[in-house]
Amino acid sequence: MKVVGLTGGIGSGKSTVLNLFKKLGVSVYSADKSAKYLINTDENIIKLIKDSFGSNIYYHNTLDSKLLSKIVFNDTQKLNILNSIVHPAVEKDFQAFLSNVEGCYVVKEAAIIFEIGSENKYDSIILVKSPIEDRIKRVIKRDKISRSQVLKVIDNQIDESLITEKCDYIINNTDIEYLNKDVMDIHDKFKC
Ligand code: ADP
Repeated sequence: MKVVGLTGGIGSGKSTVLNLFKKLGVSVYSADKSAKYLINTDENIIKLIKDSFGSNIYYHNTLDSKLLSKIVFNDTQKLNILNSIVHPAVEKDFQAFLSNVEGCYVVKEAAIIFEIGSENKYDSIILVKSPIEDRIKRVIKRDKISRSQVLKVIDNQIDESLITEKCDYIINNTDIEYLNKDVMDIHDKFKC
């Protein structure tokens, strides 16, 4: 079973593209969704996060993700600690997912791949790109946050130009109507 990674900056359209693969019947996995689920439900992870960030980071077993984001945003060491807790758990969950699905390939959406040196875990990697202004507008609309908040997240993410050449497929997500064709073209290469 081939594992195809799907990455890109915030608002580029990763989840939208992942949904199109799902509509084609491909098994899809979102590392970000899975991470959010695990940090709120997995007792071991909850304990490790409380031990590292203080128990007030949870309120009635629900993670205060805004507080956690604030803590790790400007502190690389803390971010590394969080990653060292969450990523192995997501990887384990992904392996369990893999053992339960059929088909020739799966698509795994992950906002960070190269940043954590996990590129070798993928048979192929798709990068979704969009003009920066489109991304900003989409995220403001989707997450109901300010332009400066979006810009802060973008500033914290890897520069697309550093990873473009390392990716196998580039999807330029400008017009949503063309997305389906790009996804179909990639699907044709990986389907059984
Ligand atoms: P990501 O997962 O990369 O953060 P999403 O797929 O969630 O991005 O897209 C961000 C928002 O923009 C979503 O609300 C989505 O519906 C919308 N969107 C994605 N692609 C387009 C597009 N080409 N045109 C208009 N809206 C789009």
